[in-house]
Amino acid sequence: MFSIKMRASKDDNGRSVHISGAEKIISEKQLDSCVNSLMERGLYHPKGNADFMNIKIERVKGDELEYLDALPVTTVEVKDRQEGHREIVRFLEEIAVPEPQKVLAVLKDTYAMRGAMLLDVNTLERLEPDGNRGIRATYMDQERSENVDLKLEKNHYEEAIVLATKVANCPGIVGEICISDDPDYVTGYVASKKTGYRRITKMKELGSENGGRIFLYNGKKEDVEKTIDYLQKKRVIVKGVKPLVTIQSAKLSDNQPVPDLNESSLSAINCERKNPMTVIENTLSDLKEKHLFRTMKSIESAQGSHILMNGKEYLLMASNSYLDITKHPHMLERCRAAIDKYGVGSGGSRLTTGNMDLHEELENKIAGFKGTEASIVFNTGYVANLAVISAIMKNGGVIFSDELNHASIIDGCRLSKAGCVVYKHNDMEDLERKIAENPCEFGLVVSDAVFSMDGDILKLPRFLEICRRNNLLSMIDEAHATGVIGATGHGISEHFHMSEKPDIMMGTLSKAIGGEGGYVAGSRLLIDYLRNTARGFIFSTSLSAVSVAADIAGIEIIEKEPELVQRLQHNVRYFCKKLQESGLNISSETAIIPVVIGDEKKAMDISEKLMEEGFFISAIRYPTVAKGSARLRVALMASHTEDELERAARLIAGMLEK
Ligand code: PMP
Repeated sequence: MFSIKMRASKDDNGRSVHISGAEKIISEKQLDSCVNSLMERGLYHPKGNADFMNIKIERVKGDELEYLDALPVTTVEVKDRQEGHREIVRFLEEIAVPEPQKVLAVLKDTYAMRGAMLLDVNTLERLEPDGNRGIRATYMDQERSENVDLKLEKNHYEEAIVLATKVANCPGIVGEICISDDPDYVTGYVASKKTGYRRITKMKELGSENGGRIFLYNGKKEDVEKTIDYLQKKRVIVKGVKPLVTIQSAKLSDNQPVPDLNESSLSAINCERKNPMTVIENTLSDLKEKHLFRTMKSIESAQGSHILMNGKEYLLMASNSYLDITKHPHMLERCRAAIDKYGVGSGGSRLTTGNMDLHEELENKIAGFKGTEASIVFNTGYVANLAVISAIMKNGGVIFSDELNHASIIDGCRLSKAGCVVYKHNDMEDLERKIAENPCEFGLVVSDAVFSMDGDILKLPRFLEICRRNNLLSMIDEAHATGVIGATGHGISEHFHMSEKPDIMMGTLSKAIGGEGGYVAGSRLLIDYLRNTARGFIFSTSLSAVSVAADIAGIEIIEKEPELVQRLQHNVRYFCKKLQESGLNISSETAIIPVVIGDEKKAMDISEKLMEEGFFISAIRYPTVAKGSARLRVALMASHTEDELERAARLIAGMLEK
């Protein structure tokens, strides 16, 4: 057998924060899958991705192991915390602790401790050698079959039974009191060999982090070391741990044992769960407290440079509709014709009944525009990234991803079966280093072409050269590049005057193009593969004809009127010049111009003040950008006038000075 322990932490501004921990005692056969699943748990934990993980494996000889029977479980339902604490006193009386009230009073001294307090029940003396750390009972696990595949989902309840069983069987210990420090978890327990494991349903108020643990010692002073040794070193396997079963709405009276349930009734019962609505509510309160709660503004007009909200006109400098063609006559004409012919709603996925000639026309148009053999359309850019990355990397490998890539790329990486290595933003040296450090048989390098929150451009020539030399697939996301950069708006390849193209050219139809949807352009081989494997394509109803018509029209407008793109590029230069003349050192080559403010609240306040002045400029904050780098994200349109841009630049500069 082997003991395996995992601890994972992440760095939070130089401070190491614990995110996950686990320990198991398993057979050699299970070692491999156990290490893998613990690694996965630490690396992709809901509390964050680990920056540091420690996995310790030690051999356990058979004769070192002690097998114990799990304590029997009972549940005591109490209506409030006071009643819960009375139950603790009752328990202490049952196990003959001389002064129960005094023991209860000591409980609050454990709240700040990491481990448990070891308390002499006769003298109330604290016996743990380090009063801050306390004592941690460790080296224990529940018994499982060697041949069963390890399912290592965290089960706090089962882990608590294992721990309580070890503690209750420890020489010198007569009992234990435990209250969780998890603010959402109010059930605690008392345990001893005599009483078994007794859950008490309310030990503290919801939202309170006041939790702690006391091991109650009743032995000779000179034997304390033996007790600590057992708690910290003895290898213990607990037999017969049953899942917690509480029957919904069944009222369990004091000490009534939880009934044994057969297989069929197990599906109708719950494991220990938090109240889902409370969890949701707490998350929202937390967001509000941190000024991260989001609300929406309701616009009553088309997405042009001038919009109406609550009957008032605003200058819109926050939209991705860079060319301002959503009401272009050609666009409307194409859409009306499509509605007349096809109606709305496509009725099926592309591979069933939802494939119209119009979809194919759009795909040919995109391929022509991007200079590739073929293309495939998805319902949004977000879905395109998810579907493509997960399909390409479905059999594993390594993805190298820029740290500022769009959320949809990050989510695509998460959905894939590949490992993900994040390299420093647009840092081609770091990309090379990371590739060298992470050898793989099959890999993908992915980057935004224009970064959505910083507006800077990928160093495409170096990027492609590195991918080619290392035999890695290259993928770019041109959401903010198509229709924006390159002399005629054809995107990043045109910007760099390059004929060589990335293997996977992804983009959206919803920004400069003015419609909706996402696409991938590339070789016929790639597109055939995606049609056959990309789940976001296969299992979703296709875009309706009117959206497809808008996308076709958008591309046609860019092709026929490249002066729109040139107007947008002029506006970018003009606006940056005006910002610089106002004393702000800001420049950009794309329609996205970030004005970094830092503080979340300050960014929100400035955005609101601009709104009062009639300028709609969004504040962007965590989690869209890193904490402490909140910003105004100015997004320009081809239709903004010089006068409007000059006024906006002066206003922003003035507000930043204050
Ligand atoms: N990629 C990038 C870089 C984006 O900025 C966006 C949209 N914000 C998307 C993908 C998703 O595209 P869509 O809005 O069409 O879903």
